[in-house]
Amino acid sequence: MRAADELEIRRDIVAACRSMNALGLTQGTSGNISVRLGADLLITPSGLPYDEMRPEDVVRLRPDGTCDGDLKPSSEWRFHRDILQARPEVGAVVHAHPTHATAFAICGRDIPAAHYMVAIAGGPSVRCAPYATFGTEALSRAALAALEDRTCCLLANHGTIATGPTLAKAMWIAVELETLCRQYAAALQVGEPRILPDEEIARVVELFRSYGPRSERTGSRDALP
Ligand code: 13P
Ligand code: ZN
Repeated sequence: MRAADELEIRRDIVAACRSMNALGLTQGTSGNISVRLGADLLITPSGLPYDEMRPEDVVRLRPDGTCDGDLKPSSEWRFHRDILQARPEVGAVVHAHPTHATAFAICGRDIPAAHYMVAIAGGPSVRCAPYATFGTEALSRAALAALEDRTCCLLANHGTIATGPTLAKAMWIAVELETLCRQYAAALQVGEPRILPDEEIARVVELFRSYGPRSERTGSRDALP
């Protein structure tokens, strides 16, 4: 990886962090982002407000969890590293604490196929991983299990994880997951949500393989894994 490419990824991570705050996916210093860089990963530093974060503050972490420099990597580096190691198709991981998704996570509830957009998860539901203390190996294990055959999950009493082949795709899934949860929460207020059958979601998952945000630079689509 050329140094110029690494700098570009660092800039993309800082821009994505700022848009997480602007979109209401995070508040304060909650949430974190990582992007695969060869065998290493680039990850946001721990506890640094996003509006102060500069590309050079992004931490380059080795697979054994070590890094150079003064800034500590995100306290959630374990699940970022473990997801990128276990899932070769994943290139970026976005963790956030958005209000509606976190409300379901506080109740320990999976998100069913209340809207066809649940297909962004790669299956007919978004699982909620059981609670474990932030930053622990136990949380990483719980997240990996909830992410089996899925692109995203909830973390009980905590927030969300979204993954994608690229950072743009992982951000898209993070935003759509919160929208899905907001709509499902509203539907529960209105009446009894009708849940779509698994076969229909399987069809939409197939359609989503060639659907998604276009890359501004290349005009190409980032296919779902
Ligand atoms: P960091 O600032 O260490 O990334 O932690 C934020 C967070 O969301 C922990 O779960
Ligand atoms: Zn968190």
